[in-house]
Amino acid sequence: MKVAVVGCTHAGTAAVTNIATRYPEADITVYERNDNVSFLSCGIALYVGGVVKDPKGLFYSSPEKLEEMGVTMKMKHEVLDIDSINNRIRVKNLNTKEVFEDDYDKLVMATGSWPIIPPIEGIQLNNILLSKNYTQANTIIERAKEAKRVTVIGAGYIGVELVEAFQKYGKEVTLIDGENRILSKYLDPEFTNIIEEDFKTRGIRLALNETVTRFEGEEHVSKVVTTRGEYEADLVILSVGFRPNTDLLKGQVEMMPNGAIIVDEYMRTSKENIFAAGDSCAIQYNPTGENAYIPLATNAVRMGTLVGQNIMKPTIRYMGTQGTSGLHLFDHSMASTGLTEKAAISVGKHVRTITIKENNRPEFMPDYEVITLKVVYEEDTRRILGAQVISKADVTQSINTLSVCIQNKMTIDELGYIDFFFQPHFNKPWNFLNQAGLQAAL
Ligand SMILES: Cc1cc2nc3c(=O)[nH]c(=O)nc-3n(C[C@H](O)[C@H](O)[C@H](O)COP(=O)(O)OP(=O)(O)OC[C@H]3O[C@@H](n4cnc5c(N)ncnc54)[C@H](O)[C@@H]3O)c2cc1C
Repeated sequence: MKVAVVGCTHAGTAAVTNIATRYPEADITVYERNDNVSFLSCGIALYVGGVVKDPKGLFYSSPEKLEEMGVTMKMKHEVLDIDSINNRIRVKNLNTKEVFEDDYDKLVMATGSWPIIPPIEGIQLNNILLSKNYTQANTIIERAKEAKRVTVIGAGYIGVELVEAFQKYGKEVTLIDGENRILSKYLDPEFTNIIEEDFKTRGIRLALNETVTRFEGEEHVSKVVTTRGEYEADLVILSVGFRPNTDLLKGQVEMMPNGAIIVDEYMRTSKENIFAAGDSCAIQYNPTGENAYIPLATNAVRMGTLVGQNIMKPTIRYMGTQGTSGLHLFDHSMASTGLTEKAAISVGKHVRTITIKENNRPEFMPDYEVITLKVVYEEDTRRILGAQVISKADVTQSINTLSVCIQNKMTIDELGYIDFFFQPHFNKPWNFLNQAGLQAAL
């Protein structure tokens, strides 16, 4: 079996490792246009903020490790075309510029995503940077040394993490977003208000409900102009979202309107011998039961692993996702899973919510912190559809528990009586998750 793998960050590395382990006789070739594999972009903000000192720690595999497994690694090789009728690919060696063809029996599409670059006037100016791969991380670090005023555009989780990192680095930071609040996809306003207040008290300027109309500057960017203001800037980071990197298969396999490849539960595309995984794909979103585009490393490694399980025959089904994610910003830890109340309403769900405020452990303990937990559930079925938590204590794992509840279609009433342990160091006799279930029944 001749397997071609296109792209080797998380989905690709997981797929290759699993295929090579299960099928040592397979002839696997990886084509990767970068010179590294498995870079953890989640470490970029930590690297910028000085928490991670050695960026080498942000890789968990290497071309050499995969070669030791018998895989042929074509690094700095870009796949230019895929001909899914004749099972052929055209590849460019980026070092030598040589272009050649190869064939495959099975192809794994793990080309991931690329940051959206809006067509804004002046976007080509120096020091307007993206934050996705290792090279870009190093450029950010390098340019940040000289920069005094940093503007981050896009208040999703990548944007806010960078804002924290630059603030800790001593920069004057502005955060711009077209929405009227930060993290609007992940958390409801009562949660984002807490972080916005915290940002403001730390001197971070929030320019919300504003759209960037142009960048100004000679060679380097010096100003960001929006629909409502102007902000001087020496460095700008664009983090307004991602789009799937799937042009190679356009018109050849089924895709969502944004280009995300549609796969079945065995990671098969609509073309029998082409599998896909990670940010290049749509994923089954359990709270709605529909396909959604949720580019996360967690989804990528699971889907990549399942390609390895299913490449010869359908074996293990993907269970779908709740889009569970967590964040740590200054003193607060927060996490969310499934639908926020706002998102549930926007997809036409009739929902109720329960919000509780509880201390994380008994008041007789020397210290304790307030937890705010909100659970969103369907009005008629009482099925849990989403949850969010924030606290100065780290109780984010509770959101993983609620992710399981959503996955297993549990109701808010069942949540009241699930068996959770009690020990005063960690929690109260009635776990706060139980409390949410109990109080929703009142
Ligand atoms: C700053 C940042 C922070 C993040 N933090 C988190 C986090 O905390 N938790 C989390 O779950 N997720 C996080 N993510 C998301 C996560 O990084 C992505 O979901 C993940 O990288 C997807 O992996 P992937 O392998 O599917 O795709 P990608 O990482 O996009 O990798 C695709 C690979 O394909 C290669 N490629 C593309 N086209 C070609 C071609 N034509 N020929 C050859 N090679 C090609 C690319 O060079 C790349 O190496 C973060 C992302 C960013 C940018």
